[in-house]
Amino acid sequence: MRYAVIGAGALGLTAAMRLAEEGHDVTVLEQGTRPGGLASSFEVAPDIWLERFYHHFFASDRAAIRLIEELGLGPRLRWYEPVSTVLVDRAIHRLDSPSSLLHFTPLSVPDRLRMAMTLGFLRVLPTPRLLEGATASAWMRRTCGRAAHVTVWGSLLEAKFGQHADVVSMAWMWARLHDRTAKLGYLDGGVETLYRALAERLVARGGRLCYGAAVRGLRPSEAGMEVAWGGSDTVEATTQTFDRVVSTLPPAVTRRLSGQAPAEDAGYPPLTAHCLVLALDRPLTGTYWVGVPGSSWPFMAVVEHTAMVPAERYGGRHLVYLGAYRTPDAALPQQPPRAQLAAAVPLLEALCPGFSTDWVLDARSFSASSAQPIVDTGYRARIPGFDTEVPGLYNATMFQVYPHDRGQNYSIELAERLVAHLSRVSRPGAARR
Ligand SMILES: Cc1cc2nc3c(=O)[nH]c(=O)nc-3n(C[C@H](O)[C@H](O)[C@H](O)COP(=O)(O)OP(=O)(O)OC[C@H]3O[C@@H](n4cnc5c(N)ncnc54)[C@H](O)[C@@H]3O)c2cc1C
Repeated sequence: MRYAVIGAGALGLTAAMRLAEEGHDVTVLEQGTRPGGLASSFEVAPDIWLERFYHHFFASDRAAIRLIEELGLGPRLRWYEPVSTVLVDRAIHRLDSPSSLLHFTPLSVPDRLRMAMTLGFLRVLPTPRLLEGATASAWMRRTCGRAAHVTVWGSLLEAKFGQHADVVSMAWMWARLHDRTAKLGYLDGGVETLYRALAERLVARGGRLCYGAAVRGLRPSEAGMEVAWGGSDTVEATTQTFDRVVSTLPPAVTRRLSGQAPAEDAGYPPLTAHCLVLALDRPLTGTYWVGVPGSSWPFMAVVEHTAMVPAERYGGRHLVYLGAYRTPDAALPQQPPRAQLAAAVPLLEALCPGFSTDWVLDARSFSASSAQPIVDTGYRARIPGFDTEVPGLYNATMFQVYPHDRGQNYSIELAERLVAHLSRVSRPGAARR
């Protein structure tokens, strides 16, 4: 069959590679200029790549680790145990293990014990079924207590989801706390290595990758599905017909491109991810992750990549992400990187007294729309299946991995499930999930 796969992220590339392995004729259409989607990279120095947004693997990312090994990259996957902390009252406190929780002085000893018991319970709870319908905010406040809610959970939810913090589902919080490990994996050369290998394997199996091809319309016709894409430096604008189309774009975007009416209950609009990436001439905190609770700071996480991966790999530069999720109309990501840096100075001074912008060798800003769905308690009921109302058009996206948080692992796993589904469906649109 002739397949078009829209999007060259983890999901699109894995699905395309598997379809090509099954002997299908596969074309991947990607609006950007590189593979990897949200996990794609930029060059920090000649042929030294870094993700635009901080990325690591968890030891529980089974599908991703399997794929890395299958592509022969296993020896490049290194495991680290970097330090994760939260900022409370301008001081950094370690919070990444049961023992660090027992020493977490912003909370009283009884509150620490209560939080430890809650986290222990969530780790052993095998499914989130019991938690569906509850909001993370109310559930964590009830079980961990008010102090832990104000200091940690409520504030972290607020930092990430802003005005929507109180609607976020506890099942999603369960998945985050249940799935994640203290051990973090990172590929030598970055995840760029993974996406290059996937793209190469796809091409080796006869697939095609068109960069600069922004899909503008999808229309069923007698001959199959017509896909129209705009032109760029690398491809000409054209329309081609495929037997089947797999869209890895957000469901609302796929509906719009294919002329379907918006879903009756589309939920809240997803958030934009924003990272300001700094290259410093010295370490900032020496800590990999600093969660920045509350909404009074302009960023919700400070991730010092080179507190995990040695700075020598980047020519001695210390690389720090300042990350946030924002509403699509937020002003800060539109500003030049140096202006964003100026807005971040009070936070950087709180993290590292004496911080000076003279330490900053380079600042780059990245943002990506539709990067974080608002996973409210009604989210599960709105998750679409792989089949759409348009015969021959399939939808597989990171918006379907709930209750898990987005992650390359879950996109890879979903791609494998999609391809199994497509093999079961004997003709376009024949089976409904
Ligand atoms: C700040 C941040 C930190 C993260 N940290 C981690 C982490 O530590 N570990 C981890 O595993 N995951 C992490 N993730 C999540 C991870 O990046 C995603 O889950 C994963 O990359 C999603 O892959 P995908 O293929 O499903 O979607 P995407 O990567 O979004 O791929 C979709 C692709 O479609 C393309 N596209 C969009 N519109 C069109 C169009 N009209 N025509 C053609 N192409 C189009 C896009 O350019 C993109 O390449 C993080 C994400 C963010 C935002």
